[in-house]
Amino acid sequence: MDMNLSVEDLAFKNEVSSFLDDNLSEYLRTGLLRTPGVFVEPDIGEEWHKILYKKGWITHHWPVEDGGMGWTPMQTYIYEKEVALAQAPKPAPISLTLIGPVLCKYGSTAQKEKFLPRIRSGEDFWCQGYSEPASGSDLASLSMRAVLEGDKYVLNGSKIWTTHAQHANWIFCLVRTDTSVKKQAGITFLLVPLDQPGIKVAPILSMSGDHEVNQVFFDNAETLLEYRVGDEGQGWEIAKFLLQNERGGSCFAPKTLVHISDLEKYADTYETADGKTMKNDPDFMNRLAKLKLRAHALEFTELRIQADIANGRPAGPQTSLTKLISSNLAQDVQALHNELFAYEGLQLPSERPLYHDDAPEPIGSAAGQTSLAAYLNGRAATIYGGSDEVQKNIIAKQILRL
Ligand SMILES: Cc1cc2nc3c(=O)[nH]c(=O)nc-3n(C[C@H](O)[C@H](O)[C@H](O)COP(=O)(O)OP(=O)(O)OC[C@H]3O[C@@H](n4cnc5c(N)ncnc54)[C@H](O)[C@@H]3O)c2cc1C
Repeated sequence: MDMNLSVEDLAFKNEVSSFLDDNLSEYLRTGLLRTPGVFVEPDIGEEWHKILYKKGWITHHWPVEDGGMGWTPMQTYIYEKEVALAQAPKPAPISLTLIGPVLCKYGSTAQKEKFLPRIRSGEDFWCQGYSEPASGSDLASLSMRAVLEGDKYVLNGSKIWTTHAQHANWIFCLVRTDTSVKKQAGITFLLVPLDQPGIKVAPILSMSGDHEVNQVFFDNAETLLEYRVGDEGQGWEIAKFLLQNERGGSCFAPKTLVHISDLEKYADTYETADGKTMKNDPDFMNRLAKLKLRAHALEFTELRIQADIANGRPAGPQTSLTKLISSNLAQDVQALHNELFAYEGLQLPSERPLYHDDAPEPIGSAAGQTSLAAYLNGRAATIYGGSDEVQKNIIAKQILRL
């Protein structure tokens, strides 16, 4: 595989990087850097969404016939990498990279006409209703009921860990429509408006004090038959398509490399209580170098997957491999980050957001102020999108054929 960029790709890279230079404000960048949670808050995401929408750079995960941009897999990777290097926020990932592609592939013409333009413009904000209190890794066991009554489905049950449901106006749900068949065959995929009397969104605070996830209760909530995606019983097939997009086609390494290079800068400049910098600590620098090697190895794997996709071989179970490696690597980088800031890294402010003018003053550096909260939130990376053990099971079965 040729690792050099073609002349066209190099020109594209320069175009993306100068666009980011010209359009990414310091406020938006700070919004990302000072958010210890997994996703940026909607005020930051929405402002950046509008800028990208105006530029026409919002739907690179969508097929051209549905308004996608027709970038090659390598151009998409280059774009994601430049975004990571510039430390730009990711606008509405659940809308743009999860439900958007599902509607492109499985949505009816009417659903595409109604929802895709509103996802593209940012008018609708979606959340994902897959997990339930008793169904996470074993998702196919989900029990939230939907019963068809005339031209409406009536929903009862609960979804949990629903990221940003407090900001969303739509939720896509996996629901049980048939209990008499094999569990996978009784699942259906529904689009549900959140603003209705039968739905209650209850916050769950993470151990860092961030409010990112929720439990969503459905008590005779309703949605129209026309908002069912695919047929009754086709939900499991659609769910798997979405999960593969959630885990794969990924570009994790560049973001991690940026975090590592930040660590290198801090190691150079940040003075510990005894007046030393970590760059003089051989153990610290050794661990940093090992993390960097792991990140570079991950980047090669990601590029190999892009090359496969470009050659018509869709990303398959190897996305489990990149999910597993990248989430563990990110956690190790966060752990070292926290260690570097020592006592300063122990502060855990309860105020949010930390990028507004009225945010509390950091004790020491701004990076030290968010370090512990980011570390604590980062523990979730090996759980959401499929836990480590689940990824290992997939790798064992589908790659190693064990
Ligand atoms: C921050 C965060 C955001 C999330 N956002 C969303 C969201 O927006 N929408 C949504 O639907 N869900 C979301 N989730 C839920 C996430 O997908 C689930 O947490 C995940 O699938 C694991 O399910 P569980 O929490 O029920 O754990 P369980 O499935 O109960 O697992 C518990 C433990 O058992 C292990 N285990 C389970 N099965 C096996 C097995 N077969 N072999 C070996 N070990 C096993 C797991 O690895 C884990 O260590 C989010 C989770 C987090 C933490």
